[in-house]
Amino acid sequence: MIRIGDVLVSEGEGNVYGERMLGGARVWDPFRSKLAALYYAGTGIELLPGMRVLYLGAANGTTVSHVADYTEVVYAVEFAPRPMQDLLEVARRRKNIVPLMADASRPELYAPLVEAVDLLYQDVAQPDQAAIAIRNCTFLRPGGQLILMLKTRSVDVRKPPAEVFRETVDALVAAGLAVQESVWLTPYHQDHAAIVCTKPDGGDS
Ligand code: SAM
Repeated sequence: MIRIGDVLVSEGEGNVYGERMLGGARVWDPFRSKLAALYYAGTGIELLPGMRVLYLGAANGTTVSHVADYTEVVYAVEFAPRPMQDLLEVARRRKNIVPLMADASRPELYAPLVEAVDLLYQDVAQPDQAAIAIRNCTFLRPGGQLILMLKTRSVDVRKPPAEVFRETVDALVAAGLAVQESVWLTPYHQDHAAIVCTKPDGGDS
């Protein structure tokens, strides 16, 4: 990952969503992007030039654009028409974003368009977040990484966030994933946790 001083940046054409520029690079703000927040709050994420990424919950492409600055290709899934319009514009200005208008809970619909990926990133804020992630692990190569952004209030607003967090981790482990790191994203995002998992070699997830 590229830092200028203490500031996380990515190198690519700017002015995607009004982001600040620093030394010619795009500032990746942890208050605007949960993946950037994970970079600061966790033990460190690594995005590499050869990586293929499946990104669920692309919204208007804010975080997608930074991920695309670092990696080879980003398959960006979004089901809402309005953010999709913005995402299409972001994809038009980059060569390595494949926008897919689809429901992430039905991966069979986009399976013919997506290859095996090194990183599955999910930020869909749905009640069945763990199930959606597990279903999409079919695209994750053995040894690949899942990053699940868990919005606890979307799963069950009546349960304490810590309980939702525990149950989600349990579901991922039961699906055969190895949890590498789990971290709350405060102070950047309230009631959000990131769960980072690996798909074991030879695992059946
Ligand atoms: N990841 C984005 C970013 O950092 O710039 C923000 C994502 S926003 C919290 C969640 C997005 O997921 C919304 O745009 C929503 O429309 C989308 N979404 C929710 N459920 C979905 C589903 N089942 N399939 C595809 N997209 C979904």
